[in-house]
Amino acid sequence: MSADKKPDRRAFLRAAAAAAMGGGVWMAASPSADTWVWQIDPDKCTQCGRCATHCVLNPSAVKCVHATRICGYCDLCSGYLQPAAPALDTGAENELCPTAAITRRFVEEPYFAYYIDEELCIGCGKCVEGCGQFGNGSLHLQIKRDLCAHCNECAIAIDCPSDAIERVPLSRAYILKYEEDAEDGA
Ligand code: SF4
Ligand code: SF4
Ligand code: SF4
Repeated sequence: MSADKKPDRRAFLRAAAAAAMGGGVWMAASPSADTWVWQIDPDKCTQCGRCATHCVLNPSAVKCVHATRICGYCDLCSGYLQPAAPALDTGAENELCPTAAITRRFVEEPYFAYYIDEELCIGCGKCVEGCGQFGNGSLHLQIKRDLCAHCNECAIAIDCPSDAIERVPLSRAYILKYEEDAEDGA
């Protein structure tokens, strides 16, 4: 595979979109870097849970990303609330996330915004699965470049049942859900 990809608008948009997510260093490194890195294709990931348990790092280098551009800002967020939540509020007993890594903030009736605390996220994918079942699928998993140990063979990729982890040029770095959206200038 050739790694000689020149920076283009698509790469720029990816980096800009990544930076807009906040919660850590999501910027792609130098677009001219002659390096390939491991990344998750969110369209292939089936949220099996192995990203939380099979990374050589603990906690995992895999974190949840929120594509706010396609989020429905749902009141009844299926990525935030347990399916049988006793109440539809921010009580800890109602939260789907096992580490309370998702914060819910009121925007305006009936909309709420959801934020991921990267330091608390273990990459379990529970919220991703929930969002994909009843929401817009805006939550997805990615390997954080600044956390990943860049293993020669990614231990998660070896056991990924969906073949969802692939090598991408460092100039690409992230496979974000809304990149086609951004490419269209939306
Ligand atoms: S191992 Fe593969 S299918 Fe399972 S959560 Fe990770 S990327 Fe998704
Ligand atoms: S449910 Fe899992 S993947 Fe989602 S924010 Fe919480 S720890 Fe991260
Ligand atoms: S390359 Fe290594 S550190 Fe990075 S996600 Fe895979 S197992 Fe974890």
